[in-house]
Amino acid sequence: MGGPEIDHLIALLAKLPGMGPRSARRAALKMLQQPEARMLPLASALAEAARAVKVCADCGNLDSRDPCSVCIDQHRDRSVLCVVEGVGDLWALERAMVHHGLYHVLGGTLSALSGVGPEDLNVQTLLARIAEGEVREVILALGATVDGATTAHWLTDLLRPTGVAITRVGQGVPIGGALDVLDDGTLAAALRSRRSA
Ligand code: ZN
Repeated sequence: MGGPEIDHLIALLAKLPGMGPRSARRAALKMLQQPEARMLPLASALAEAARAVKVCADCGNLDSRDPCSVCIDQHRDRSVLCVVEGVGDLWALERAMVHHGLYHVLGGTLSALSGVGPEDLNVQTLLARIAEGEVREVILALGATVDGATTAHWLTDLLRPTGVAITRVGQGVPIGGALDVLDDGTLAAALRSRRSA
């Protein structure tokens, strides 16, 4: 079509979530038609983000600072820790402004099918944070999938001996559903209706 540079660009864009070859071609064309206004700012934003963003050593969030801006926020309730599967879930809860404590990103869920075991999840830092003694409640905000439920049960057993209250988000999370696609009201309801695990 338009040479190897354009093919390469389209191939990279097509790998992004929500993009297929068709939307990748449309996005590439849109940018190529206005390189100064659309393409160069995007290129420098990408390079800047790749350079600046790191994983928070405390919670696993992505931020340009470590510890992240959530973890260093002194207005937050440091006694409540919300455990989520991925950074996307943390961002969804933050956007909805429904949780005013801290977070912990697991980095996945246990999955026999995908070969994800306990050693692949960010749990040692979770146990270390709880051992510091400030945490009173751990909210398990995992998706309503089989793997999410398995992981919640496993975490409940693992955390029980620490003595912290363990709760799970309640109604509103659709069966088979992930958290980061829910609207703000549903997220708020799910968090409000949390129950003891
Ligand atoms: Zn953090």
